[in-house]
Amino acid sequence: MIPHGTLISEVGAEAIEKGFGVPIFGSRKLLNWESDRQLKEKLMKESGIRTPRSFSSPKEINTLAIVKLHGARGGQGYFLADSPTSFQEKKRIMEKKGILKKGTTLYIQEYVVGVPVYLQFFYSPLTRELELLGVERRYETTVDAIGRIPSQMQEGVMPSYVVVGNIPLVLRESLLEEVYRMGEEFVRTAARLVPPGVIGPFCIEGVYDENAEFVAFEFSARIVAGTNLYILGSPYSGLIYEKPLSMGRRIAVEIKNAMRSSSLAKVLT
Ligand code: ATP
Repeated sequence: MIPHGTLISEVGAEAIEKGFGVPIFGSRKLLNWESDRQLKEKLMKESGIRTPRSFSSPKEINTLAIVKLHGARGGQGYFLADSPTSFQEKKRIMEKKGILKKGTTLYIQEYVVGVPVYLQFFYSPLTRELELLGVERRYETTVDAIGRIPSQMQEGVMPSYVVVGNIPLVLRESLLEEVYRMGEEFVRTAARLVPPGVIGPFCIEGVYDENAEFVAFEFSARIVAGTNLYILGSPYSGLIYEKPLSMGRRIAVEIKNAMRSSSLAKVLT
């Protein structure tokens, strides 16, 4: 049993799945898939979503790659490498600085050059409808600061990906069809691989590359911090709902609708 007063972020996905004794809104199993980089990649790949190549060993690194820790860390402790040698060098620096503990399991992924975009969805198991409720980008230090230094003076500056805030974004309209297609395919695939599948909020996170094609490096199977931008609704929620609607309120509406139709079992796990 998880001690009273413990924060969910301190608990971890596995403990939530097995030891959290009260029903929760959302899918516990999917949280576990979210926290395991291999399972996460499998779900996105099977959804037909383009994902960056991953490398099973540092020896395979033959292009610019981003090295990550397992689990959601808000970009903390990530670094870039473009060869097995630069991987070892950077890893040593990170360990020396105390940012990385020796022996930590790392996940290595191709670095996709493009602009990062976070797509905030809500899926209702009651109506079986998918809603895009917001789009954002994150403000990350130091990677978003490097352009502020003249290129001749950038040597030795190591980009880091620590999130300090979120910035609202409206996508070019022609991209929306593909956004919905990806979201729908993700919902279908999650229902097949991790039943009962998606319940409520989730976020597909990636980069639009030079051809404005989306490559997803991540998903979150839950409400994400960037939804705080839209407490009074977003340009997207405004197209679906007449009243200002935050992601939190959308969850409340779903729970109320489930209670009214005696369908709580469809939204709780
Ligand atoms: P969260 O806490 O939101 O789950 P996280 O710690 O899992 O975040 P990611 O979302 O995987 O971290 O990545 C953090 C940042 O690193 C991204 O916002 C993006 O700027 C950058 N990033 C991650 N993967 C890639 C990639 N494959 N190519 C380019 N940039 C990437």
